[in-house]
Amino acid sequence: MNKLILKVGREKSLKRRHPWVFSGAVAKLQGTPGPGETIGVWSATGELLAVAAYSPDSQIVARVWDWEERAVNVAFFKERIARAVGQRHALMGQAVAMRLVHGESDGLPGVVADRYGDTVVLQLNSAGADRWREAIADALMEVNGVTRVWERSDADVRQLEGLTPVTAPLRGSREPTRIVIDEEGIRFGIDLERGHKTGFYLDQRDNRQQLRALSGGRDVLDCFCYTGGFALNALSGGAKSVVAVDSSAEALELARGNAEMNGLAQPECIEGDVFQLLRRFRDQARSFDLIVLDPPKFAPTAAHAEKASRAYKDINLLAFKLLRPGGLLMTFSCSGGISAELFQKIVAGSALDADVDAQIVARLGATSDHPVALSFPEGDYLKGLICRVAG
Ligand code: SAH
Repeated sequence: MNKLILKVGREKSLKRRHPWVFSGAVAKLQGTPGPGETIGVWSATGELLAVAAYSPDSQIVARVWDWEERAVNVAFFKERIARAVGQRHALMGQAVAMRLVHGESDGLPGVVADRYGDTVVLQLNSAGADRWREAIADALMEVNGVTRVWERSDADVRQLEGLTPVTAPLRGSREPTRIVIDEEGIRFGIDLERGHKTGFYLDQRDNRQQLRALSGGRDVLDCFCYTGGFALNALSGGAKSVVAVDSSAEALELARGNAEMNGLAQPECIEGDVFQLLRRFRDQARSFDLIVLDPPKFAPTAAHAEKASRAYKDINLLAFKLLRPGGLLMTFSCSGGISAELFQKIVAGSALDADVDAQIVARLGATSDHPVALSFPEGDYLKGLICRVAG
């Protein structure tokens, strides 16, 4: 096996089971591995630390498959995927829409797989994952009830790995490209080809339930609504009115279709930029009882944290201003570069500048099919707060 030998003392993070090797930690490479090929990672003192996938184009030059010497082959992927799927069934029963594989936290760096009924949507984000595409697809086909695997490897992170985007059916039929899932009694249409990421934001499942329980009799504003995940739950929970905002006309079209399919009233859908719309609402003195802010990732890494902090501050400040006394703000950050602690500080600063007193009444995270390995804190990307403005 080819060898990646680390500089003196740079084995520490691997010994703590953090699965990434950064290029700056490498003393030398022995051999000529291709992209995604399995290599041994060795300390300067000649200890084998891990077997890993080589990513020659990335700053993360290797991602760990295992901590001891073992063959990385078809059987390896079968075993890892079976383990990931089994763990989910133990926690979430046989729900037909759930994340089956969550990358590093499931011991499969760069591999994300979401199940929507009989279809699995697969996202391969690293050279190692990309190299094992066929083995991964075959292993996913063995999950009970799955008949198709669709690949949606079009995330920006692929560029950092020197990989080009891929959107294509991998196993089973191409059609239909639009499917319907049921999440806790609400049906959502998913566009496999053109939907965001793998098509749906499964990580917000529990939080959407929580919103449903809080919506009765309230005027609700769902910002960054995508296909209506929160908006439809608000309607189903008996909201008095729901305004849903997104910059994507396609997402709003799906949201309207989803409302109709469920026999719910139509939310007031507004196509536009949330930053501008919140200002307009402020100028019009519009107010709400409950506001959801679920923006896209403003800070993919810590390097973007400062600019992202300003963006979070801006929308949270405006949202606080639009809330009636006693109103609730459900606010999220899915930025890996913003910690839960920093996010809370930003929200606190927003309340202060909006001149409102508010309390945290709940802390939110991703649903349990998005586990976070304790050795991989980067996996803890989704954090949320429910804040109540003084009545
Ligand atoms: N809450 C949704 C997921 C939101 S994803 C759910 O539960 O399914 C983030 C959404 O923000 C995307 O749909 C994207 O189109 C939208 N978006 C990104 N920037 C925006 C902006 N400046 N104004 C409005 N919408 C925006």
